[in-house]
This record gives sequence, C-alpha cells and structure tokens, in this order.
Amino acid sequence: MDIKKGNQEFLSILDNNQELKDRRDELVKGQHPDTLVITCSDSRVVPEYIFNARLGELFVIRTAGNVINEGELATVEYAIEHLKVKRIIVLGHTHCGAIHAAINDETGKYLDPILRRIKTNISIITNETMAAKMNSIGETEYLRSKFPDYKGTIESMMYDIETSDVF
Ligand SMILES: [Zn+2]
Repeated sequence: MDIKKGNQEFLSILDNNQELKDRRDELVKGQHPDTLVITCSDSRVVPEYIFNARLGELFVIRTAGNVINEGELATVEYAIEHLKVKRIIVLGHTHCGAIHAAINDETGKYLDPILRRIKTNISIITNETMAAKMNSIGETEYLRSKFPDYKGTIESMMYDIETSDVF
C-alpha cells in the first residue's frame, strides 16, 4: 500500500467530515478509552473496524498470536493505572498464522518463546480455531494472574475472519 497517499486520503476524509475532525481536535487534550483490546498483528484483524470504534475509544495492543510478554504487560499496566480502562478483551481469531505455526512446530529466532507460550496454552489441541480460542483464554488467565486487583473485566473473545463475527 502507498502509505503517503493513504494519509493524504485520510486528511481529505477529515476535511469532509466535521464530526470526525471535531473528535480528533477534542482528543488532543487527552485520551479516555474505556476498553483495552489485545489482539493479533494479523492485518485482517483490525479492532477499530471490527467494533466500529471511533478515534480514542479503543486502546489497542497487537502482537503475533495475541501473546502477552513483558513489554505488553507494561502497556496493560498503563491502560489500567493511568487510562483507567474498564474492560480488557483478549481477542483471538480464526486462521491465525501464529497458532498454525505453533501447531506445526515451526520455529523462529524471536518467535520461539511466543510459540512455546501458545503451545502451553493449547496443549494437545490441533483444531486451529479451538486452539486459537484456548490460546486467547490462556492469555486472559495470565492477565488475571498479573493484575489480581484489577476491578474491571478481563475476557476472552474470538473473531471469525470469514464472517466478521465476534464470538
Ligand atoms: Zn493471528
């Protein structure tokens, strides 16, 4: 994709949408998203589209296989402590490359720790959709263990890239 052209197009969308422009300007003062979404980096899984969110509504972390590592924990902590998000969603998805890689024992210098984590989460499951769901549940439980005093909800969801349903 042409990044520069894309931004020019976004600017012209803003020029023709006063509500969006006003919202952009309002958010300069600060962001107050109430939901943190942790999902996969997969280009087909775009939380703002899936949940039809406006600018400033979702705080988002995207990593391969929605696996939460140290760096992600820092971002979650920021979302909880400073942004006061009320809800955290770990969103797995169908046809996930990271899940496929874990099931098929693929390797990668930096991917290995993530694949090990997915394997722990999915145990012996080989159905990719079931495995993605178990992985998402595993990461949800991991988060709960890391933030035991968090008063909001931490939940697991799945996105179907064929139908766009969240389940
Ligand atoms: Zn994925």
